[in-house]
Amino acid sequence: MAWLRRILKLQSTSQALGRFARSAGQHLGKKSSSVFEIRTSPGKGLGVFATKDIPRNADIMRDPPAFQTWNGEDLVERHRRFIMLPLKTRQNILKLSEGKSVLDYRPIVYARYPRNNKYERESILEIFKLEDIIDTNAFTIAHCNRLTAELFLNGCRINHSCIPNVDQVDNEGTGDLVMRANRDINAGEEITTSYIMRAAPREIRQRELSGRWGFACQCPACDLGHPFSRPHKQRLKALLRIYMNSVCYLGDDGRLKRPGTWSYAALERVTDSFRRRTELLTQHHSLRSFTREVYLGAFEVAIAKYKLRRVRSDLKEALKLLQLTIQAERIYFGEAIARSHEELYAKLEKGDISGV
Ligand SMILES: [Zn+2]
Repeated sequence: MAWLRRILKLQSTSQALGRFARSAGQHLGKKSSSVFEIRTSPGKGLGVFATKDIPRNADIMRDPPAFQTWNGEDLVERHRRFIMLPLKTRQNILKLSEGKSVLDYRPIVYARYPRNNKYERESILEIFKLEDIIDTNAFTIAHCNRLTAELFLNGCRINHSCIPNVDQVDNEGTGDLVMRANRDINAGEEITTSYIMRAAPREIRQRELSGRWGFACQCPACDLGHPFSRPHKQRLKALLRIYMNSVCYLGDDGRLKRPGTWSYAALERVTDSFRRRTELLTQHHSLRSFTREVYLGAFEVAIAKYKLRRVRSDLKEALKLLQLTIQAERIYFGEAIARSHEELYAKLEKGDISGV
């Protein structure tokens, strides 16, 4: 039964899906491209480093998926698909970091399958190794109707920071992992991404990282001795407070609840809270990817105000906020979404509010 529980546990952890790029003690790959290289990162195994200065909003990598799986796929079937991959791809996948050492399973597998030959038992071991690698490294990718867990040979090498310098952005339907700089990055700097909800309080971030990936983050936001830590903590605390206060007028999607039922004075208070959120989010590069939702929410409030009083300045404010929304969408969400809002912008510019 212990064996069965172990299998079930492995299934459930791999189904939880996640990503991780710690790679202590692994083969030192020399993968490189024009703007990044993979090399040793002190205390973290391998990491991804900029080979030249990279400006904000430039793409760092476009990495095609090496292997894709999904919730509920049978372990053996998953492995069967894996062994059909080209040998080089399989070898590179098996070099990615594991949460648990394959050696831990060896005595269990050999005891559980005493009559199987060495080749069969090694295949079983590889099934577990693959599960560990997926659980530790895979990115969760949302498609139209399902989530998949995908391994990217370069992307999976990016280490974590709670204040990352790159964000995963829309891939324009290519299936690639696209990482974009959220600030200017100097040659030689390590490229980092966040494996968790970066705006969560430090204690929650630490618990999630140590529980799921087994390390204590020492980024400037987590290092209590670092001068950045305290102001950032206060920034996140202020954002959380505004968010908690907004649940009475905003839905889970950040949109105004029951538009058309609010007084002008109430809408002005909502505008103030959006303004404060924008101020806080734009204070730090690692939080800018959240601004689109705030700009869009504030735009809807400005339109609601305009509908109530037809004050020209409210429409002007709405247009400004829609423009900011479009700019953020172009960076993070791709052209298609931005284009639909551009059409709306063109109508609003002519004073046509029939579409909002
Ligand atoms: Zn951290």
